[in-house]
Amino acid sequence: MGKRKKRTSDKVVCHPRYGGASIPSAFNATDKMVRDSFWGYKDADIFIESAIPADTSRQNCATFPRGYYVDVLKLCRDCKRKFIFFAREQKHWFEELGFYVDADCVRCTECRVSEKELKRVLQRYSNAIGVENPSNEMLEALTSDMVVLWNKGLIQNVNTLRRIRNLANKAIPACDATEAINLLVLELAAGAE
Ligand SMILES: [Zn+2]
Repeated sequence: MGKRKKRTSDKVVCHPRYGGASIPSAFNATDKMVRDSFWGYKDADIFIESAIPADTSRQNCATFPRGYYVDVLKLCRDCKRKFIFFAREQKHWFEELGFYVDADCVRCTECRVSEKELKRVLQRYSNAIGVENPSNEMLEALTSDMVVLWNKGLIQNVNTLRRIRNLANKAIPACDATEAINLLVLELAAGAE
């Protein structure tokens, strides 16, 4: 609320697929409808005219789905430039790629790990997570993938994180991946205090 309407003069990092400006949609969603549809939009700098309704049945979420997708103006965590996390890009992330619905995009496309690479990691992780007795090699990849996906916010199950951490400490205690997951669990514990 109370946001400036025209932001065309703001310089944003150009997205290779969606460009550098908000894309209006054919849906006339109100500001309230969109903000009420997902907690993450409450205080976000959104372009209301870009909102598109979501197919929540395709979303991967624990509690609250995203009812709409909307272009969000954000600041890149790495390069500190402005970029837009596009409504259409969100639809792709949350309905096609299977990314966890609370996942937020914090980097511009120039600073991001490519979606292809993430998709590959997520796929490998999904295949390995259900394996009863993973080989050490598989466990090492699983542990390292878990850390990457956790840091991206794409997986958020603490119990799974602890389970993999325990497996890694037992089977492959000297690996870099094990050190990384131990550090992650420690950081989480510190943050929870
Ligand atoms: Zn950036």
